[in-house]
Amino acid sequence: MAFLAFLAAMAIGSSCSLFGMDASGRAGPRHVFLFIGDGMSYGSEVAASRYLYGADEGLAWHVFPFRAWAATWDASAYDLFAADASAPVFAEDSFDPLLGYDPARGGDEPWPLGPDARAYLLRAATDSASAATAIATGLKTENGNIAWARGDPAGGALVTIAESARSRLGSAVGIVSTVPFNHATPAAFSAHSPRRDSYAGIAAEILGSTRPDVLVGGGHPAWNATYFSSEALADLKASGAWTVVERAAGLDGGDSLAAAAAALGAGGRLFGLFGGGDGAFEAPIPLDNPGAPAFVAEPENPSLAEAVAAAIDALARDPDGFLLVAEQGDVDWANHANDFPRMLGAIASLDAAVRTVVDFVDRPGDGIDWGNSLLVVTADHGTGLLRFDTASAIGKGALPSSRTGAVYSYPGGTVSYNATSHQNELVGFAARGDAAVSSFGDLLGAGRPGTRILDNTDIYRGLADFLGLR
Ligand SMILES: [Zn+2]
Repeated sequence: MAFLAFLAAMAIGSSCSLFGMDASGRAGPRHVFLFIGDGMSYGSEVAASRYLYGADEGLAWHVFPFRAWAATWDASAYDLFAADASAPVFAEDSFDPLLGYDPARGGDEPWPLGPDARAYLLRAATDSASAATAIATGLKTENGNIAWARGDPAGGALVTIAESARSRLGSAVGIVSTVPFNHATPAAFSAHSPRRDSYAGIAAEILGSTRPDVLVGGGHPAWNATYFSSEALADLKASGAWTVVERAAGLDGGDSLAAAAAALGAGGRLFGLFGGGDGAFEAPIPLDNPGAPAFVAEPENPSLAEAVAAAIDALARDPDGFLLVAEQGDVDWANHANDFPRMLGAIASLDAAVRTVVDFVDRPGDGIDWGNSLLVVTADHGTGLLRFDTASAIGKGALPSSRTGAVYSYPGGTVSYNATSHQNELVGFAARGDAAVSSFGDLLGAGRPGTRILDNTDIYRGLADFLGLR
């Protein structure tokens, strides 16, 4: 008996968890919900939390039992820091984590908890392609690479966690994004390319080859033809290989998606194609309504919560478990544009989507519970170097910002952006599930002892450990 208890403890506490057993030692399917707020610095989280809840840490994931910070540097940023230090370029088997991110220069925690180390944080930073590749494959690569090896070798495709979960566990795979479905972050879990802007090729691989069970995103060619062509969409519909749900004038996109997910037959694949003039879903717009946060949203795109709910409805029917990746990509687009209200709306939509998953896992009677589920919320990097008066700026429902024509202005200087680019700042990481601590706790502080810093490649390791893939 004591020996069996020891084995169970090993399964929970070590990095070699027993294949197919959940955190309580039961055999059965496992379920991963991975949320990525693209460009979501911790300062952005605090700002959105203040607007929504009047407190710094009121977002859905701020109460999760496992909290940490993630370093986001990629091989390109590393090589620039290495050149500054006259050190060798990045190599997988011999690199210095402190060259990628040094807490002595950037802080053990991100601003506003840590220092405001602007010059260091803006010196070099990952892009979304290499950051998502690190999370999806556990490997560092260069800017612009979609699950593709450093150095862009021929045949450099890297195996993603979605591919491993499907091939080794039979997991269903869902990919949801509020930006185009073939943009960097969703693509790094569902395609392979040394060029993130090869939109037609990436779309062809996702829809014709890797084929997630559920795919929901922006990029509808009727609104923006940059990402996916009308011809490719017509061919896809004619092929009958997917159930396609599209944005349509006057129709509620969330309702259409829910109905299609409910009607999806066994083995069917669902493709929800939405988006607006820039290719992305239109994030809800917050109103200046002190004391009572409120938003204006257009209904032709689904909300992220609606997209996630439809995806779960379809994925949860797979008896082998599932992996769902959901990106709120508008946070990054808003922060690039220094558009504070859009950033708030995008994080509010992420908050609602995460609450949808918490409620879903809490619901009894469906065999999906915290014993066999792992819910992670993180960011791939910060964008815009948002700063604000930490004491007084931003109250519940109150916008400190105003817009004059195409230019955003922030009266009194209480809110400011200091870049239109990415930064090498630590980002938030939160996990919930009985296995959250055992999956990620051992990875804390590697190369940076005494800190609660994970590397973004550790996110892959923790998820793979939970699924029994390592
Ligand atoms: Zn970006």
